[in-house]
Amino acid sequence: MEEVVRYSFRLRPGRTAQSALMAEWHRCRFLWNEAVYLQQSGERPTYSKLSKLLTDARTRSAWLRDGAQVPQQQMLRTYAQALAQSFSVQSRGWPKFKPRKSTRLSLEYTRRGFTIRNGRLMLAKGVSVPVVWSRRLPSEPTSVRVHQDSLGDWYASFVVRRSAEPVTSAGENTGIGIDQSRHDSRVWAKRIVDHHSLIAVEDFRPQFLAKSTLARKAADAAIGFAKRELVNRGIRAGRKVVLVQPAYTTMTCSRCFARAKQQLELAERTFRCSDCGYCGGRDRNAARVILAVAERGHTRVDDVSQSSHLLRAGGSVAVRA
Ligand SMILES: [Zn+2]
Repeated sequence: MEEVVRYSFRLRPGRTAQSALMAEWHRCRFLWNEAVYLQQSGERPTYSKLSKLLTDARTRSAWLRDGAQVPQQQMLRTYAQALAQSFSVQSRGWPKFKPRKSTRLSLEYTRRGFTIRNGRLMLAKGVSVPVVWSRRLPSEPTSVRVHQDSLGDWYASFVVRRSAEPVTSAGENTGIGIDQSRHDSRVWAKRIVDHHSLIAVEDFRPQFLAKSTLARKAADAAIGFAKRELVNRGIRAGRKVVLVQPAYTTMTCSRCFARAKQQLELAERTFRCSDCGYCGGRDRNAARVILAVAERGHTRVDDVSQSSHLLRAGGSVAVRA
């Protein structure tokens, strides 16, 4: 079992970094608002269209060029996702204008846009920010979101991969196997609940049980137990627990939220997006989709629409089994 999780840390940007980040935010906000105007004038701006417009705009505008390309592209990507989602049945409407005063800063950097050096978060265009490392990152982060909460505190939220083994194999003696794994499950669930404020769990598909052998059934039951344990513990501890329906989680691109035409074959381990070109492990992509759905306050891939829901400290976690 593998998890894609967010690890959040406090940031302590100095004055120079703060004003650089703020300037970057206003450029990104400007681009988002341009996309909103474009849509309001009757266009349907896709990411590829917006990406071309960005390239042109950066050629013409020194102000945009002063900023980094990565967060600007990410902003338009998020916009395109939000717009795509606004066509779904339970949509909350079009992506909205981001006013200067009432929107909080949020910048996304992918691999190309950041590194971690000497304990500092180094962002594109030479912005260097000290991080309060309250715990160790379990793997190289694939992206980071720099954001400010309502109190004006700064955070970096890294997306990382972590292996989680709640259940070893059911083994020959199923009874012992399950007893053993129940203990492991409790430890595993406790660790996750202790470290995350949002827990997203993919809901179980019971039809898998019907096809399985006895041993497989035992393993499935144990996984069911681990999930139940996680959900119950999470609720008791006052965490936000979201059960996400498995529909479309493996067919949706975690980067642009476009949906693949066909379901992936089970043997196919890699997800490839024909819209944005994203390529990543099937399970990892699905876990990122589940996390994105839960972070936006939804339980189904179909329901995701844009909302600037930011998590406070603690981070969030998506679990698939
Ligand atoms: Zn995509």
